Amino acid sequence: MLFELKSVFQNDGETKELSYKLDIADIDIDGVFPFKTPVNVTAKAHNRASLVTLYLECGFDYVRNCDRCGEEFTKHMKMEFSHKLAQTLVDDGNDDYIETPDFKLELDEIVVTDILLSLPQKNLCKDDCKGLCQICGQNLNKGECSCDKRQIDPRLEILKQFID
Ligand SMILES: [Zn+2]
Ligand SMILES: [Zn+2]
Repeated sequence: MLFELKSVFQNDGETKELSYKLDIADIDIDGVFPFKTPVNVTAKAHNRASLVTLYLECGFDYVRNCDRCGEEFTKHMKMEFSHKLAQTLVDDGNDDYIETPDFKLELDEIVVTDILLSLPQKNLCKDDCKGLCQICGQNLNKGECSCDKRQIDPRLEILKQFID
């Protein structure tokens, strides 16, 4: 989506807002496609004392399989980002700015990069997911199995030897 920012750059105090849906269903992460529904993007550009800042709000459903129990889960994500915009870049090694030479900004790539850099490293269906039993494979969130788990904990095995 192209964001036309000429009026923002030229008028102190000016704000411009744009909302759209971005379909990124074809992006795969670790071999899965977690963006089943489009991302709701709200972009806002604001000129404050001739400094133009872009604010992004992204909301989307993130579908993954739990790292511990393997069950598929959907998490609604809300992410916020901001970037400083400059018409021409001052060559001082400062890459905090995004260059907008013709007052036009292509938002899609910025949104996708921001989101990909902010995704969680771990995917858990819930913070206290109990995972699977290592003996019988039962999903322990759905109930305890009857396995004696103490016997397979190697740390306990070592302790037992000391006690004996
Ligand atoms: Zn889980
Ligand atoms: Zn079990």
